[in-house]
Order: sequence, then structure tokens, then C-alpha cells
Amino acid sequence: IKMDKIVKEYKINAIKEGTVIDHVTPESTFKVIEILDLDKNKEIISVANNLQSSKLGKKGIVKIAGRELTKAEVDEIAVIAPKATINIIKDFSVVKKEPVALPDHFSGIIKCPNPNCITNKQGTATLFHVTSHEPLTLSCYYCERAVQGNEILLS
Ligand code: ZN
Repeated sequence: IKMDKIVKEYKINAIKEGTVIDHVTPESTFKVIEILDLDKNKEIISVANNLQSSKLGKKGIVKIAGRELTKAEVDEIAVIAPKATINIIKDFSVVKKEPVALPDHFSGIIKCPNPNCITNKQGTATLFHVTSHEPLTLSCYYCERAVQGNEILLS
């Protein structure tokens, strides 16, 4: 992971094709890299963290050259960085820019913290419904356990 140190001169269209994930809270920037397996996949990325943001105070940006994200990946980003925006870059310009949309449910992404839940006992794929956006609160379809904040764990 190369840290992009030129904070003030940062240009969003510095990659030819790919995806820029903007407005990530600084605590979540490296989680984004982790959930996308960017390190493992040896994709060309650059990361800037703790940039000034009028929206968030401080923010992080992750740039990935050469590919777009899958819906499942965008859903995972929505869990840890609900204010993030996804920019699609083609030929050095932003062709699409949209906020991550919180889906109304997450299937197979979140781990249920209830040890007695069928998803933990029998390995049934998890299913959580979003019951509140602020703060983000999810409810397990199987055991009805509600989770928020640090209890929201990606499986
Ligand atoms: Zn459960």
C-alpha cells in the first residue's frame, strides 16, 4: 500500500480507468482496503487519509486503477463508510459519481453476534435487515438480534 502524501495537490482524475472511493471516514479507510482484498489482489491503488473535508471534517480516499466494484463490494463499503461516494473514472474523467446506497438488507455479509443463532450453529447464510440509518442498525432475520456500531461485524 502506497500512501499518497501529496495531500493538497490530490487530483481525483489521476487514474485513467478505475474507481475512486471518496468521503470515507479516516477510521474506515484501511477497512475499505481490507474488505476489497486490494492488498492481496495486488491491484494498483493509492490511498490518502486525513484529508480536509467540509462534509466529514477529515476523510480518506481510495483509488483503484483498472476496475469497477461489484454490488456486493459497494454494499460492504456502505456498512463501514455510509457517507462514501463512488466515482467511476474513464479516460481520466469522472463519468459517474454517486453516494453508496445502503441496501434494505444484507445477505451473507454481516456476522450475527448471537452464538445461539442458526447462522452460527448450522452455518446458514446470514440475512440482516436495515431497521435504522442513523445510527445504522441492523436486525438478524433468524434470531431478531439488533446490532449497531461495533457489533456490526463483517463475516
Ligand atoms: Zn442471528
